[in-house]
Amino acid sequence: MTITTSTLATNGRASSPIPSSMRALVLTAPHEHEIRDVPTPRPGPMEVLCLVEAVAICGTDLHIYEGRFPGRWPRSYPYIPGHEWSGTVVEIGPGVADIGMFAVGDRVAGTSHAGCGYCRMCTTGRYNLCENYGKEPIHHQYGHYSQGADAQYVVHSIKSVFKLPDEIDLPLGAMVDTASIALHSVKRPGINAGDVAVVVGPGPMGMLTADCALALGAAHVIITGSGERLQKALDLGFDVIDYKAEDPVAAVKARTGGKGANVAIDTGGTLSSIRQAVDVLRKGGRVAFTGVPTEGDSALPMQKIVLEEIDLFGVRANRNTMEEAIALIVAGRIRVKPLVTHTFKLEQYGTALHTFADRVDGALKVLVYPNE
Ligand SMILES: [Zn+2]
Ligand SMILES: [Zn+2]
Repeated sequence: MTITTSTLATNGRASSPIPSSMRALVLTAPHEHEIRDVPTPRPGPMEVLCLVEAVAICGTDLHIYEGRFPGRWPRSYPYIPGHEWSGTVVEIGPGVADIGMFAVGDRVAGTSHAGCGYCRMCTTGRYNLCENYGKEPIHHQYGHYSQGADAQYVVHSIKSVFKLPDEIDLPLGAMVDTASIALHSVKRPGINAGDVAVVVGPGPMGMLTADCALALGAAHVIITGSGERLQKALDLGFDVIDYKAEDPVAAVKARTGGKGANVAIDTGGTLSSIRQAVDVLRKGGRVAFTGVPTEGDSALPMQKIVLEEIDLFGVRANRNTMEEAIALIVAGRIRVKPLVTHTFKLEQYGTALHTFADRVDGALKVLVYPNE
């Protein structure tokens, strides 16, 4: 079924009845899924029910699908994933109207973390590190252990949805979470005016990270990688280094007067990309790690880290950067549209995941539309 904003009432719930069941992507075991009818969730206190417009597939989704985080993401099967999404509020839970933050008909972008709001990490703004992680209902991480958005409808805490301005097309709202992680990953090490930043990995996260580094004042951003994706980075106007054609560390030094980069951000999460991100730094450099490593622990060059006072920053998803990313997308400083290469219906999820994972036809970001 399709609900347009014109069919929606202005408060409470949509004038069209919300169906009692909905189509959803249901993971049943590692590497296995079904498209099934499941009960439509309803919003509790300070939650909203949204009609999902689009969901972007990310690397974490792939790892969740493959069962690489057993017992954690998801905790058990059956499970509905999906955490980078956009949609329209169709029902508000108790208390939401009282504070006036959201109303039926609002166009929103979702993000995964909803911290408890009480612990030290939450009250100091680091809700992505909530000390009550995993304790529903006061904590959620949607699409990781709480129900995700790969369905016609999804319920989120109002902590985890952000209004989209008219300038952002609703499907592209699914890219806001991705962009906000990129922004967090450059805010963690910090960008000083005029810095040289190296982004390791020319995937969607790498290109968004490069835009964010420029938005925060980097004078020169270099993306390292290879193949079709590096060509795309070049097409988007970035300076690039093909690590298969030349030694990336030597090439960065050559382009920075022999010094190296002030800041590096690894978006690959592989042992070699992590090492490269440290190796390209100059003395006093800072490095952030966005990709979640699944290959085991990396051997880092500890003498360089100690003797050159290298600062290391882990990056766990995002916090407090959704509204900032929305503003930078509207301003054209973070470019999300060129990164969306493919779209599919929910019923085609298997093909969508394969297209994303195997980079079919130069795939970068792949969107799934649960209501088409
Ligand atoms: Zn993601
Ligand atoms: Zn907390």
